[in-house]
Formats: sequence, structure tokens, C-alpha cells
Amino acid sequence: MTARVLVVDDILANVRLLEAKLSAEYFDVVTAMNGADALDSIQRTKPDIVLLDVMMPGIDGVEVCRQIKNNAQTHHIPVVMVTALDQPEDRIKGLEAGADDFLTKPVNDLALFCRVKSLVRLKMLTDELRARSPNGETVTLMSRREDAAARPGKILVIDNRAAASERTRAALVPHHEVTVIDDPLTAVMHAAETRYELIIINLDMDNIDGLRLCSQLKSLERTRQTPILIVVAPDDHQRLLRALDMGVNDYLIRPIDKQELLARANTQIRRCRYTDQLRSHVQATMELAVTDPLTGLYNRRYMENQTAALVEHAINRGKALALLALDVDHFKMVNDENGHPVGDRVLQELASRLKQSIRNIDMICRIGGEEFVIVLPNTDAEVATKIADRMRRGISGKPFDVGAKNGPLTVTVSIGVAAIESQSDTLEAILKRADEALYSAKRGGRNRVNSTAA
Ligand code: GH3
Ligand code: MG
Ligand code: MG
Repeated sequence: MTARVLVVDDILANVRLLEAKLSAEYFDVVTAMNGADALDSIQRTKPDIVLLDVMMPGIDGVEVCRQIKNNAQTHHIPVVMVTALDQPEDRIKGLEAGADDFLTKPVNDLALFCRVKSLVRLKMLTDELRARSPNGETVTLMSRREDAAARPGKILVIDNRAAASERTRAALVPHHEVTVIDDPLTAVMHAAETRYELIIINLDMDNIDGLRLCSQLKSLERTRQTPILIVVAPDDHQRLLRALDMGVNDYLIRPIDKQELLARANTQIRRCRYTDQLRSHVQATMELAVTDPLTGLYNRRYMENQTAALVEHAINRGKALALLALDVDHFKMVNDENGHPVGDRVLQELASRLKQSIRNIDMICRIGGEEFVIVLPNTDAEVATKIADRMRRGISGKPFDVGAKNGPLTVTVSIGVAAIESQSDTLEAILKRADEALYSAKRGGRNRVNSTAA
């Protein structure tokens, strides 16, 4: 992972030390030696993360952090406060200023890389979300204080040591919704059913292999995406490394510092939420490509791609399949007399009535202005004709309340029905027959169903 890290410290030796460690891991390092320079450097160099010394003359670290987090242009940049071990109140001030995490001097390598990587990953997610959101809707999406602080996260704590789990719970519960489970088997089952945004596991439970539990959760389909934070003993380097290798997302060393616990829990919850948002965004983009925005029905492209395969599948298995070609009668008049917006509402209401009249396996597509195709798998021409007539009556039988000038509008449709007729049938041929049937329904006076089989 390569990312730009801004290191801020008023003591040159500290800057050089962090710079050397991070450069050795191929991070791109920029440095600043006071608060004003740091703020200036953030504007110029756009770092992916800031490591910020708390104690500096002039603008101190807490103030720099506050300014980063209060600026809409920079508030998505993660900030790690570097504090002295004997200054716990610095951490509280840091958290209040919006800091994302803490490192204690002297900075330990594992902690440094773990924190930096975890937060850089989060930053990349937010960058991707920002890039995808139209007209940079980053404010609503990214209000960091709001998302993790205001809306409680769903956290599962797995620990069978009552005193330890109670301390964890007490630190999180003012901000988050916490469930504690002491039995790992129950916990795994529960985690697979409920969508947690973070799982916290004590690696030192009585008679339980905490690592195995982590590995189970990271391999199960339903829990793989859920971030895991582990709590380890200070001398348990070996197992900590194994856990990180397994994909455990972050760790805390016992005894737990409440501020650290909260900061890391918040980071992981955000990460979980941003990943979800990104996933549903991709989903929505994909849906957009196959659906018609006015009615939410499938579009022509989708119909052509999917239906050909359905027809082939049905023919290969000797199953029936029918297509309905549906067209609104005299729709031009609806527009001419009531305006285009009323016409649009007619199409929407029509789509919703059609949706209500079909089975799960059926598919409705809007293939053109007021033309629709309905695909009915496992349905022969005779049954399809009955279904079509029920649809027709469902539309003509109840006027459309769409704000037309003379009150509710009576809308009628004509429908042509065609079904698979032979082994050599194709989608194209069936559609053509459905279309011909539709046009003879139109010629026959409209508001009717016509079937080639009839
Ligand atoms: P017929 O009974 O023969 O089908 O007559 P018709 O008036 O429905 O057929 P025609 O094809 O002449 O007109 C279709 C009209 O549908 C013309 C067009 O303005 C309108 N139309 C197409 N797409 C939309 C749309 O998205 N919204 C609205 N409001 N009207 C549309
Ligand atoms: Mg029409
Ligand atoms: Mg038409």
C-alpha cells in the first residue's frame, strides 16, 4: 500500500525517526515542524494521513487537528495523535478535536504500521466514495463526527472473562449498541445472523482459542466483511502477528485505554459503513444500466440480454414460455390533452399495476415509450392469454388518478400474446409474433388481447 504521510513534530529527531521508518515501508513522507507549516502542507501536499505531535509551541497538535476536522476540504483526512504515555488527558482532548487514533511515544513499529495502514485503507474508501458521489456530495456522506459518533454502531464483544468484558462494554456503551457473548459457538452463529459493524474479541479467553475464532469469522461468508478488533496481552507478539495475517483489522494491548478503544471502534465502524455504501453504490450503478428510470422496470437492453437466454433454456428443457407485447391505446391523446407529465404518471401507475399482477419469476420490461414486454416462464399461450386479459381488465377497470384535468383517466391497453412453438423458435421470432398479435388487437378495436394461438 502506498500513501502519503505527513509527519508533524517540533523535534527534528522525532521527525527523522518516523520518516525513516515509514520510507522504509515505501510510504511517501512529507514533514512539518510546527502547526502553521502542517496546515499549509496539508493544503499543498494533500496527504492521506497525518501523524501529529500533540505538544508543539504555537499552534499545538490538538488545535491543528481541530482545524483539519473543521474544514470540509480536509476533514476526511485521518489524524493520528502522537502522545506521551504520561499525558492521558491529551487523548481526551485529541478525541474531542476529532482525532482518529493515537500512538504513544516511543512509537512501536507494529503499532505505527497497523494504525497507518488501517486508517489509509479507510481514507481510500472515503476517496472512492467521494469520487463516485455526484457533484461531490461529500458533506452528507463524510461528516465524520456525525456518522460514527451520532449513530450508534452495532458491536459484538466475544469474551468469557466477565470483568474484562464489562470494562469493554462500559467504555463503548455510551456511544454504541453493545452485545456481549461469552460462548464462541453461540457468538459465531449470532454474528452470522445479525449484521454487526464490529466484533471485538479477547484473545485471552479461558479455555478458548481466540485465534481459531478469528479465523472462523474471517472465513465464513456471512461474517467475512465484519471488522474484527482483538485485545491482546503486551507480550503476545507472536499471536498478534498471526491474527493480523489472518485479516484481523486492528488490535488493542491490555490494559485497555478507553479513548483508544473508542477511537479504534469508531474507525472500524466507519470503515464498515463506507464499504457498505460503496457496495450499494456499485449495485445502484449496475441497476441503473438495466432499469428504466421513469418506471423502475427493466429496460430494452436488459430484456434483450436476459430473455434470449431464458428462451433457450426453456427450449432445451422442453418447458413453455410466453411473451406479452403490450401497448397503451391512444397514448398520444393522453399527452396531447393533459400534458407530458400526466402521461408520465400514467406510465408509472401502469407499471405498478403490471408489477402487482405478475409472479416473482415473470419479468416486465419497458422497451419503448408506451410499449412493454412481459416474459412469462413456464407458461403456455392459453394461460398467458388469461393472464394478459386479467392485466387488461386491471388497467381498464379502474381509472387512473394522475391529476388529469377532467378527473381520473380511463386508460386501456392492447396486448399480443405469443409462446414458444417449436424447438427452433427464437426470441426474435416469438417477439415478432407477439407484435403481430398486438397489431391485430389494435386493428380489432383496441382494449383487447389477441393471441397467435387463438
Ligand atoms: P395506439 O393506440 O395506436 O398505440 O396510439 P398511440 O397514440 O398510443 O400511439 P403512438 O405510437 O402514435 O404514440 C405514442 C405516444 O407516446 C407518442 C409519445 O409522445 C408518447 N410517449 C412516448 N414515450 C413517452 C414518455 O416517456 N412519456 C410520455 N408522457 N409520453 C411518451
Ligand atoms: Mg400506443
Ligand atoms: Mg406505440
